[in-house]
Amino acid sequence: MQVYGLIGNPVEHSLSPPLHEAGYEALGIDARYVTFEPGIDDAAAAVRGATTLGVAGLNVTVPFKRDVLDAVDPDPLAERIGAVNTVDFGPVRAGDADQPRGYNTDAAGVRRAFEHHDVALDGTDAVVVGAGGAGRAAAFALADAGASVHVANRTTERAVDLAGDVPNAAGGGLDDLATRVADANVLVNATTVGMEEDATPVPTEALHANLAVLDAVYTPIETRLLADAAAAGATTVDGAWMLLFQGVEAFERWTGRDAPVEAMNRALRDHL
Ligand code: NAP
Repeated sequence: MQVYGLIGNPVEHSLSPPLHEAGYEALGIDARYVTFEPGIDDAAAAVRGATTLGVAGLNVTVPFKRDVLDAVDPDPLAERIGAVNTVDFGPVRAGDADQPRGYNTDAAGVRRAFEHHDVALDGTDAVVVGAGGAGRAAAFALADAGASVHVANRTTERAVDLAGDVPNAAGGGLDDLATRVADANVLVNATTVGMEEDATPVPTEALHANLAVLDAVYTPIETRLLADAAAAGATTVDGAWMLLFQGVEAFERWTGRDAPVEAMNRALRDHL
């Protein structure tokens, strides 16, 4: 039996175990997915311990995504984003490498969520609100897919810093967000606004029918932003799609097989 898992702190409400185990079951893979909660300073020790114990793969969540970078060999995208959310121990077990490989599948989560909804990104004008972990992943995903990206963040300096790392991107504060969104085709909310509260980071009047909106927030599943966007005639993509596809991408890297997306999506939505 293979063991996969998640390190984070806290992890008790994670949706990743049912998501991945539905995938193993659908494909008849003999594996389990378990959660681990190391101490705040113990990310690298946890990765070394997992290597010793023969764990096949780990997802990484808050607050460890940056710390894990030092304990893995990151692929170029994870290195550019500056965060790892998926560790593959396969190369170490095969004797091909001293360190496990690190990936960032949050970016693929954004790209594949849009693809699944037939939203083309190449040549679009995209706005990312937020410049934390999700914002970084979204900005790189959109730029790499050919969008021109504007990052808007409450703390302007963080947006400007992020935009400096991303090709074809600019950054600013929230003052001109309505104008930016009015002129855009793609919008990602990567702030925590709307999580467990009836609030939106985007002025409602800026939303329009020529816009595709992904909200990274998935509790609640229909945020105020998505409800406003739907009312304006925009295409809406809820945060569970991003969560699903970051997991799908990790599953495919670990197993080398196409993930059973439908089964994994059903399991995820059953547990939301
Ligand atoms: P983070 O690193 O802590 O970043 C939080 C972001 O929200 C920052 O840009 C922060 O701005 C902004 N923010 C917080 N409160 C705000 C407010 N009142 N007004 C405006 N901006 C505000 O968090 P994260 O890890 O990027 O996560 C962001 C959201 O994405 C969370 O809801 C998380 O659950 C979700 N997420 C979803 C997925 C998925 O797969 N669906 C994956 C990752 C994250 P400042 O820089 O000014 O503080």
